[in-house]
Amino acid sequence: MKPAKFEYVLPSTVGAAVAALVASKGEGKVLAGGQSLLPLLNFRMARPAVLVDLNAISGLSYIEERSDRIAIGALTRHRELEQSPLIAAKLPVMAAAMRHVAHLAIRNRGTIGGSLSHADPAAELPMLSVFYDATISVQGPDGRRTIAAEEFFVDALTNCLEPEEIVVEIEFPILQHDGWAFEEVARRFGDFALASIAVSVRPGPAGLKEARVALMGVADTPLRLREAEQELIAMELDNRTPQRFSEIVVSKVSPNDDLHASGEYRKHLLAQLSKRALQTALAAKG
Ligand SMILES: Cc1cc2nc3c(=O)[nH]c(=O)nc-3n(C[C@H](O)[C@H](O)[C@H](O)COP(=O)(O)OP(=O)(O)OC[C@H]3O[C@@H](n4cnc5c(N)ncnc54)[C@H](O)[C@@H]3O)c2cc1C
Repeated sequence: MKPAKFEYVLPSTVGAAVAALVASKGEGKVLAGGQSLLPLLNFRMARPAVLVDLNAISGLSYIEERSDRIAIGALTRHRELEQSPLIAAKLPVMAAAMRHVAHLAIRNRGTIGGSLSHADPAAELPMLSVFYDATISVQGPDGRRTIAAEEFFVDALTNCLEPEEIVVEIEFPILQHDGWAFEEVARRFGDFALASIAVSVRPGPAGLKEARVALMGVADTPLRLREAEQELIAMELDNRTPQRFSEIVVSKVSPNDDLHASGEYRKHLLAQLSKRALQTALAAKG
């Protein structure tokens, strides 16, 4: 199919893009990499009157270290994140996850701002933003505001942006964690995840003093398991810990059945992935 008719706008500044969205009176849509939006237009599941293409705006594509954070411009492509030495050194969980994002052609065009805004519950970057406690900067008619990643995703394919707001930057804190792991199962490599977990740990004098756990593919939004993190920190570490952790993780989710997998199967996958991820993270912590 072909998209329904729309007006095409190619602004050169974020301000002009926001103005175009305001002028569209709620009928506009932003175009970034087009990897999710164009199929929706072709199937006429989205019928915006105005398409506001961000690709002529300079200065929206960068990866920068800013003291204890990595700042990423919204138009930065998945492939740049996958290949960046800075991401590999400072955000290793992201580096490990990026090669699971779709296929090379899609990673060459897809952007981090587009992935977060599309808010697919089985997509890697939304989950990573929750895992790292990222801060999402958005610009609208009243200027800029920042949103914590956990508040950004409100439902499957639904974010908390106002219709005239544009994601401009995402800041990821650099974690001081010694051991980490990213595990994912998809039907084929590069497909959306059926279940996935990211774990990181920081050892203390006895046991762990910090832990992070985030999931995707098992709920309508990516999940940060803060309770499970505390339960993990409270555990004595021995050879039964990965199994106990896996049971805790699975007890926190109730995935629905859908076209791709039953909820029970997703839980089964998550149990295996959780055990493996914690084993890897603990083995790496030294
Ligand atoms: C076959 C296939 C397999 C895929 N597999 C995966 C996968 O395994 N994992 C994964 O994570 N993704 C996957 N994707 C999605 C891919 O990562 C997309 O690139 C991404 O979801 C959207 O990014 P985009 O830049 O292409 O956004 P677009 O398609 O241009 O836009 C997507 C949505 O976000 C909005 N938007 C875009 N940029 C902004 C912005 N800066 N501010 C506000 N709103 C904005 C648009 O208006 C639109 O609603 C897959 C896609 C395809 C086609």
